[in-house]
Amino acid sequence: MTSQRSGRFVAKRNHGMKTRWAPIVKSRPSQGAIPNLEDYAKAWSTFSWDAARRELAGLPGGGGLNIAYEAVDRHVDAGRGGSVALRWLGKDGAIHDYTFGQIKSLTDRFANVLGGLGVRKGDRVFALCGRIPELYVAALGTLKRGAIFCPLFSAFGPEPIRSRLMIGQAKVLVTTESLYRRKVEALRDALPFLERVVVIADAPGGGGSAPGIVDYARTMEEASERFAIAPTAAEDPALLHFTSGTTGFPKGALHVHDAVVAHYATGRLALDMKPGDVFWCTADPGWVTGTSYGIIAPLVNGVMNLVVEAEFDADLWLEILEREGVSVWYTAPTAIRMLVKAGSALVKAHRYPRLRFMGSVGEPLNPEAVVWGQEAFGLPFHDNWWQTETGGIMIANFASMDIRPGSMGRALPGIEAAIVRRTKNGAEEIREPEADGELALRPGWPSMFRAYWNEPERYRKCFAGGFYLTGDLARRDADGYFWFVGRSDDVIKSSGHLIGPFEVESALLEHPAVAEAAAIGLPDPVAGELVKAFVTLKSGFEASPELQLRILGLARSRLGAAVAPKDLEFRSALPRTRSGKIMRRLLKAQALGLPEGDLSTLEAPS
Ligand code: AMP
Repeated sequence: MTSQRSGRFVAKRNHGMKTRWAPIVKSRPSQGAIPNLEDYAKAWSTFSWDAARRELAGLPGGGGLNIAYEAVDRHVDAGRGGSVALRWLGKDGAIHDYTFGQIKSLTDRFANVLGGLGVRKGDRVFALCGRIPELYVAALGTLKRGAIFCPLFSAFGPEPIRSRLMIGQAKVLVTTESLYRRKVEALRDALPFLERVVVIADAPGGGGSAPGIVDYARTMEEASERFAIAPTAAEDPALLHFTSGTTGFPKGALHVHDAVVAHYATGRLALDMKPGDVFWCTADPGWVTGTSYGIIAPLVNGVMNLVVEAEFDADLWLEILEREGVSVWYTAPTAIRMLVKAGSALVKAHRYPRLRFMGSVGEPLNPEAVVWGQEAFGLPFHDNWWQTETGGIMIANFASMDIRPGSMGRALPGIEAAIVRRTKNGAEEIREPEADGELALRPGWPSMFRAYWNEPERYRKCFAGGFYLTGDLARRDADGYFWFVGRSDDVIKSSGHLIGPFEVESALLEHPAVAEAAAIGLPDPVAGELVKAFVTLKSGFEASPELQLRILGLARSRLGAAVAPKDLEFRSALPRTRSGKIMRRLLKAQALGLPEGDLSTLEAPS
């Protein structure tokens, strides 16, 4: 056991009517490792973004900053070229190791390939492929060229692919032979600015040689492996990420090379990466987490980055954690809920002696999941919060900190997070603790987005009163821990109460039969809105009117009559985005018979 549940309790306020109590999970450094952020208050007094920036090298010759140089070449120049940078586990069982030196030559070649295709600084290079090694080479090679990299989920259908290539005016697309045939070929006429498609063969000898198509293997072989990185400035654009759009239409958040300073610092402080670690981020680079932490942060920190091509499978993932000796694991609530569904006996069938830190991001992590991690793995899950626009972790449960289950943790050193209320003239901070308001951040951190691609007005509207407004509702307790209430668009207003879906869902998840839960508000002439819940059940439980009553009864006893759901529907699955977020907006549209809106990020078989 590396950490333990203490007998202390922390209060979770619930609309001033009833207090929910959740146990604190005490965090203790495991395997004798002292967390990088040992003392929160001390870290605040010593941290500055400039100091973090000075720990990186900058481009040789001075002046510039380039993400790919910091992630790859810097280690080679410092004599660490022989260490394994990336271990790739293929779907078919193949395992390939790539050293920093090998990645340097591959990405230099790819940067030369792009040069040969006429790609210049600031041009957009998109990728549409699964988690294959070529995707990682393309990402870093594009950054070396000084072009902007934009990863897409390979499971996207033709329409989301077309619209994103269109919005971003892609000049080059990197994809696989089969994805090209199935999803891109028919779109070519609609994308006149897309000059070239670099195609990765499904099998040796494949690829293709039609007009406008470049064979990846052949062109890489012909390219020189000598390349001088483009002289990028810290403020030069580097990455374009389309947000997963749980509530609205996709928009492209633009990040600059300076973001690498945040990837480096948050990898060290929030995810506790240390030399010798085996780090596994389960996210796909199509979601910002899979780029910031699935590519850049581990490489910049010089730790081995494990890339797993396969999608979630409880047996396989647990086997990987054990066999590969993963020490830092960064995953998401959707995967954790699926593991809970599979049962802790399965988790306990393996041993994880090297596992030291487990992190979670992307959705609220219910208190039950934190405590379950402790029971099943002997380690709690550390929730942290951020979003596409912030480019990196902003609020976190640090390794050295006691966890208050259900809380997202405290602000990262260097990040001024606040709870604000919007006013006629902008926004003002709510200083008293425990008050609900919008989560806001003081601009100035390196990975803050610099634009929504071609949408200056939409960007401008995100800022008021000297803050970036996140669109999330939260509260902060007296000790500076932040508690998620809900996306502002998802919040339910019932009989004068503002109800956060997360709170309702957490109460539902306390029932032993419930695997997943979603709460929405439906119009009611008296109350304004009434809460309706949707749940999926753990294996071994059957939906029945009795079970429905028992779950509703538990929610009522936990939340009180004003907040508890009035109706509950059993579902075999809940609609989710590709990054695993439950789409409450869609459940609501379906319940009301309204148009379903943009479904491009909806998870569905490809
Ligand atoms: P995305 O930009 O797709 O990563 O989505 C960001 C949004 O996911 C945030 O604005 C939150 O609404 C939600 N989110 C991310 N992390 C957390 C978390 N730890 N707790 C609650 N919500 C989260």
